[in-house]
Amino acid sequence: MNLNLKKRLEDELKNLEENDLLRTIDDLRFISSTKAIDKNNEEYLVFGTNNYLGLTHHPDVIRASKEASIYGTGSTGSRLTTGASFEARELENNLSKFKNTESTLIFNTGYMANLGVIYALTNENDVIFSDQLNHASIIDGTRISKAKVRVYKHKDTIDLENLILDELESNKEGNLFIVTDGVFSMDGDIAPLPELVEIAKKYNCCLIIDDAHATGVIGKSGKGTVEYFRDKTGIDLTEYVDLQIGTLSKALASEGGFVTGKQVYIDYLINKSRPFIFSTALSPATIASANAALSMLKENSEEYLSNLNENTKLMRKLLSEGGLNIVEGETPIIPIIVGPAELANRLSDELKKERILVSSIRPPSVPKDMSRLRLTIIATHTKEEIEFAAAKIIEIWNKLKN
Ligand SMILES: *Cc1c(COP(=O)(O)O)cnc(C)c1O
Repeated sequence: MNLNLKKRLEDELKNLEENDLLRTIDDLRFISSTKAIDKNNEEYLVFGTNNYLGLTHHPDVIRASKEASIYGTGSTGSRLTTGASFEARELENNLSKFKNTESTLIFNTGYMANLGVIYALTNENDVIFSDQLNHASIIDGTRISKAKVRVYKHKDTIDLENLILDELESNKEGNLFIVTDGVFSMDGDIAPLPELVEIAKKYNCCLIIDDAHATGVIGKSGKGTVEYFRDKTGIDLTEYVDLQIGTLSKALASEGGFVTGKQVYIDYLINKSRPFIFSTALSPATIASANAALSMLKENSEEYLSNLNENTKLMRKLLSEGGLNIVEGETPIIPIIVGPAELANRLSDELKKERILVSSIRPPSVPKDMSRLRLTIIATHTKEEIEFAAAKIIEIWNKLKN
């Protein structure tokens, strides 16, 4: 091995470790949607998954996965070569119906969907306006795109409009794109979609929202950010959002990503999006489990979302009453801001000793001195589990903060 390179890598790792920023992998096995065991068979209560509806362990979802696996454990190729599967088309059609859009395309992950969409649709004359707190996959999509990128302050539509006006002075040819998370992954807050739609209409921008944490989570039947605002304002913004991105890996209990919107976008992506073209399609079992989870969501949305909302409200209330510094909001992503990375790690380690798993989130995922525990609540947590975890978090925090 090149010793220069070896030394550089080791130095950087050591530096991360000294700053409490080293990342390592815990091996876990989920024995239910809320409980996992480690290699020593120790059992933990987990408050950090994106499994919002707890459907990963539902017998109907597991059965769908098993049944589809008789058509092969792997998909054998890209969708454009040999990897077409009946299951993929069926899921795409069901997602279009669910989101009330013309057409849908599945990618292998939500990450690849963002890369593949942003990179394929934009060219060197274009400008992408991107929220400061967008997910890493959006940031990476803008980085590999040839377009110019302007980052606007988080949810600040005045800043966004000023940047657009600034660009319009010099840019006469290109297209403008606005890209935002629907529910922001680290703070759990919701994008100001009605204002973004107004701006997109006014300046003829293509508006793309990433609903990874919104699908199956917000809106009265779990359809995401568009439905959330329709519930609030009575106005349906579906046709003004050019593309909605989603993942199959959160509320939909499987793996994969998708993009949904007008047919012309989807036809173009099938031909031009390299992450779609040059990667082996998802296996039939993976897609079938997402499809089963989607059907269950459609049939039981009222029950699932009311469980999720009640659990979220309970945890938010208990933590606030306990004096913790949580980011206010209404989604099941509950960030507890503690400041230094070292303190976030300690809080997470102490909780682990109590058999509660909550991830500590540190830079570069969040700004310096904004390290946090990022708690996520799911529909299948019981009241007792939530009360137990909240009491432990408050108790340990009171011990550590002094
Ligand atoms: C999780 C997430 C993704 C990535 O989805 P995967 O399917 O896990 O690759 C994309 N965008 C946002 C906002 C996310 O939270």
